[in-house]
Amino acid sequence: MSEYKNLTAKQMADGVKCGELSAVELTKEAINLAKTEGKELNAFITICEEKALKQAAAVDALVKKGTSSPSQPLAGVPVAIKDNISYTDYATTCASHILDGYIPPYDATCVKNLIDAGAIIIGKTNMDEFAMGSSNENSFYGPVKNPVNHELVPGGSSGGSTAAVAQKIVPIAFGSETGGSVRQPAALCGVFGLKPTYGGISRYGLVAFASSTDQIAPLARTAEDIALAYQVAAGRDENDSTSVTFDHPLYSEKLATDKKFKIGIPKEYFAEGLNDEVKQIVEEAIKLLEKNGHTFKEISLPMTNRAIAVYYIITSAEASSNLARFDGVKYGLREAGDKDLTTMYSTTRDSGFGAEVKRRIMLGTYVLSAGYYEAYYRKASKVRELIRLDFEKAFNEVDLIISPTSPTPAFKLGEKIDDPLTMYLSDIYTASASLAGNPGISVPFGKTKDGLPIGVQFLAPWFNELSLFQISNILQKSAS
Ligand code: GLN
Repeated sequence: MSEYKNLTAKQMADGVKCGELSAVELTKEAINLAKTEGKELNAFITICEEKALKQAAAVDALVKKGTSSPSQPLAGVPVAIKDNISYTDYATTCASHILDGYIPPYDATCVKNLIDAGAIIIGKTNMDEFAMGSSNENSFYGPVKNPVNHELVPGGSSGGSTAAVAQKIVPIAFGSETGGSVRQPAALCGVFGLKPTYGGISRYGLVAFASSTDQIAPLARTAEDIALAYQVAAGRDENDSTSVTFDHPLYSEKLATDKKFKIGIPKEYFAEGLNDEVKQIVEEAIKLLEKNGHTFKEISLPMTNRAIAVYYIITSAEASSNLARFDGVKYGLREAGDKDLTTMYSTTRDSGFGAEVKRRIMLGTYVLSAGYYEAYYRKASKVRELIRLDFEKAFNEVDLIISPTSPTPAFKLGEKIDDPLTMYLSDIYTASASLAGNPGISVPFGKTKDGLPIGVQFLAPWFNELSLFQISNILQKSAS
């Protein structure tokens, strides 16, 4: 199927529903690419061939019977999911040695929604261990390569899902976001990545890292496809009490608009540490949008320089608690099982977790410990509220905020791995919105002199994903 790589998810689903394309053929093509080009990039941990082919045959059978309906907006579309999203019959590893052999007993709600929509889950993608990282180098299964240049990182932690979309193995993939893990790799690989409003997509079945900011998050190559992916996955779920009842419109059908947006440029996001070429390209996007009648205004988000510190205190605290469950008893790996219980716990955790995960658990345990709780965790929680208020104030004045997604283009494999603080700065423009719960999108726009993709980020008020899709569509259309 020579045209496979050029088809969007929307075109695939339309083709399958009218009988012009076969879900089984699309699935075979995606699996073949995952096994060849995906292997080269190390993008997949597991390929779900058997179940995928069965799902695809079921979709084709529905079409034949004439019973496939608009309720299957992703009929026959091959989709990949990050390996921290539970999917029965296959391992969910979180790219960690500690989950060796663990097979989840239930499907994540997002997976259920995808399958109901006709999507075909073709594989589980590589990632930073437990979603901790910005380069995908913290994986027990080895790093993922950036499809644009194999010596560079794809970003992280959803590096595998992002590489699979950028390499056109699948038109849509799902990753997860705690502080930028979909937006940042999307920027580094040149695709669209959405961090939904906190509570937009159910977290049921997503292995927890930091529950107060974790969100399942889609990636795609067009504004329409990412809107489609979100509308299928989103919605209230009684298995996740933090998912919100919200009337989600059919986003993908509402992309066209005459609306002129008022957009804020936060001065703190264009300050020291921002790569010159990235800055220039974001400024070009601003000029292009201005030409199209959108207006811009400088705004201030004064708490920006506190975001990284607050983010790493709060998310590490939550991680230390969430990861306490991996003790060799209920899940995956068990070491020294013939010794006493305490030895079993500690040897399992010692050999099961990688260095970055251990660093976060130690940091998190420290900031929650008696005597330090007030000084670190509590204080960080108060500053988090101030960060939220920054956005609330800004969105009284503007509809959207524009910024770079990442301070730099893709960097070399190995370049930052021994310097955690520099690595943490990759999240400087994404972490604030995660702490505040606001939605954000990274839109591929422009390239550096060396041909590396750049992402422009838009942030919106809670549950205003529609504006994000509309502005993405406008920018995509006016750039092409
Ligand atoms: N890079 C960030 C971290 O390491 C973000 C991770 C994420 O969003 N899952 O925590």
